[in-house]
Amino acid sequence: MPRPVHALTHTDALRHNLARLRQSCPQSRLLAVVKANAYGHGLAHVFDGLRGADGFALLDLNEAQSVRELGWRGPVLLLEGVFEQRDLELCSRLDLWNVVHHEGQIDMLSRHKTQVPQRVFLKMNSGMNRLGFTPQAFRSAWVRLNALPQVDEISLMTHFARADDAHGVDAQLQVFAQHSSDLPGERSLANSAAVLRHGERDDVTADWVRTGVAMYGSSPDHGLHDAAHWGLRPAMSLRSRVVGVQQLKAGDSVGYGGVFTAPQDMAVGIVACGYADGYPRQAPTGTPVLVNGVRTRTLGRVSMDMLCVDLSAPAAAGIGDEVTLWGSASSGQVLCIDEVAQAAGTVGYELMCALAARVPVSAV
Ligand SMILES: *Cc1c(COP(=O)(O)O)cnc(C)c1O
Repeated sequence: MPRPVHALTHTDALRHNLARLRQSCPQSRLLAVVKANAYGHGLAHVFDGLRGADGFALLDLNEAQSVRELGWRGPVLLLEGVFEQRDLELCSRLDLWNVVHHEGQIDMLSRHKTQVPQRVFLKMNSGMNRLGFTPQAFRSAWVRLNALPQVDEISLMTHFARADDAHGVDAQLQVFAQHSSDLPGERSLANSAAVLRHGERDDVTADWVRTGVAMYGSSPDHGLHDAAHWGLRPAMSLRSRVVGVQQLKAGDSVGYGGVFTAPQDMAVGIVACGYADGYPRQAPTGTPVLVNGVRTRTLGRVSMDMLCVDLSAPAAAGIGDEVTLWGSASSGQVLCIDEVAQAAGTVGYELMCALAARVPVSAV
């Protein structure tokens, strides 16, 4: 029998979250962001739940190929565009849309031998200072693209650095509008945070939104609003089982470094899940976890293949009992991935993406 650790992806939750996001921007079309192997869930495992989107957005050509192999014939956007000349051949073959964010990509397009012009999303750096043309260079890039026979429709795009906090999107919106408002074409600006927090604003949601993390049931502004506040459900559950029980006496410690010492006699469950499965090693004593659907806490250091949980509360728990590291228990109780992430000093995004290859995933 394999180790009991496993992950489930929840097709219903994906559908629900997608519908929830659409509710915030009913006028916009929605690109489901499935980069990083669908935020760790597995492209094939989320496809059914997300096929109601208007398109998919991702980074890697091989992921784009997988989306086509799954039978998707609609839009697929490469969020960073191409990295080298020959990528454009596959782009043409797979009928992909491309982000164009630097001059070299326009050069490559100009050398591309194709009969079928491609749709491109021209990206402005409106203040995040990651990818994109400066506002000043944006118009000349548009003019260059517009003159190429290889280029079909040109859409305009930017990305928000602070849609998830109080600083908000206004400064970047203003830069974007100031340097693009007289250019034709569809617009794409909003990520999950922008859709949930500013969905009522047409200038934010525009023609195409690009949502990732919220579709998977994590709140993009967890410190301010949790997933339940936004009406999101976990699309991934990481579950395992208790594989050992130790009865500690007051003063005994548990795990590497002995960093947790029992204040009184207590039962400790040893769970088959560790950092080699993608559970964060940084998660300290007290990180929430469900045993048989009952909330308890981790104890001591997370090791490679195991972690320890407090069995004082879920009385009578023993070997074989279900442990939910995040997501939903089989009894339906939910432990949001964001709570675990917060305890470990990170965000839900990182935990999802870090799910280890050795953990078997199945879609339910
Ligand atoms: C990852 C990404 C998104 C999705 O962001 P979420 O916060 O997960 O919704 C949108 N746009 C671009 C350019 C991205 O790289």
